[in-house]
Amino acid sequence: MSEKNSVLIVDDEAMNITALSHILKNDYTIYVEKDGIGCIEAAKELKPDLILLDVLMPAMSGFEVINELKKDETTHDIPVIFVTGLNNAQDEEMGFLRGAADYINKPFSSAVVKLRVHNHMKIINQMRLIHQISITDALTGIGNRRFFYSQMEHEWQRSLRQQTPLGFMMLDIDNFKEYNDKNGHLQGDAVLKNVAEIIKSSLTRAIDIVARWGGEEFVVILPDTPLEGTKAVAERIRESVEKSGLTVSIGVNCTIPMKENCTQENFVSDTDKALYQAKSEGRNRVVCHRG
Ligand code: GH3
Ligand code: MG
Ligand code: MG
Repeated sequence: MSEKNSVLIVDDEAMNITALSHILKNDYTIYVEKDGIGCIEAAKELKPDLILLDVLMPAMSGFEVINELKKDETTHDIPVIFVTGLNNAQDEEMGFLRGAADYINKPFSSAVVKLRVHNHMKIINQMRLIHQISITDALTGIGNRRFFYSQMEHEWQRSLRQQTPLGFMMLDIDNFKEYNDKNGHLQGDAVLKNVAEIIKSSLTRAIDIVARWGGEEFVVILPDTPLEGTKAVAERIRESVEKSGLTVSIGVNCTIPMKENCTQENFVSDTDKALYQAKSEGRNRVVCHRG
């Protein structure tokens, strides 16, 4: 990771902001805010990796600010370190109970603040790496099944809210067992990587999602895309894979989710059925689910 981690410093006293910025500015990207409202807005907009938060501030105290941050799903994972003149055990306990990652008393030692921030940043980066690994397919580098489920849930809810069409396809490489048996598994692995690349490069919009379902099967989610568009993308993928020497069968589906009589599980299994129909009709083709 080459980009610097970022720290949002929130304090109503300019001198404290200057001191903390001075300590941290060589190692991190620094954002500053002078009050609680500014902190909450900046946290949502800038998504800093860590927040250093004063407790005693006019209008809104640091304790009130952390409550707001923890309530909002876009900010509740951002670790907060209190840096405060409230130097007693009860306040410290209060800070931790409200979800603080750490509590630093004023006046602070520059060296200690620097080391504590550094330690927290190390944990933050490790957590992020673990999360990244947990949703990535090791062979192809695209998302794995876990990634797919979380993205599907997210897009399903969005389509439900906005009543926009959700395009979806399941792809399965044809006669891949035969290919492996003939060419060996390493060559088979290279093909899987290549097919993942072909699918990725066939998707033109940044919000389109590809994942490896497992084995030689892939899934693609096309948010806000009607059936015709989804079919066209599937056909494009089918053609590109064919040019590479193998073929894929693709099941395609599209829905505008509704609250009742309409589940993600059925949506996926209907798409799977379309895929199996594509197989039984001779492979190397796109078949749409007819709802
Ligand atoms: P169909 O056209 O009906 O899909 O036939 P198929 O041979 O592709 O399907 P089948 O389900 O019989 O076999 C899937 C094969 O995919 C089995 C295995 O050899 C191969 N495979 C699954 N995962 C991997 C993998 O990670 N690496 C490699 N090299 N091969 C894999
Ligand atoms: Mg298969
Ligand atoms: Mg197959």
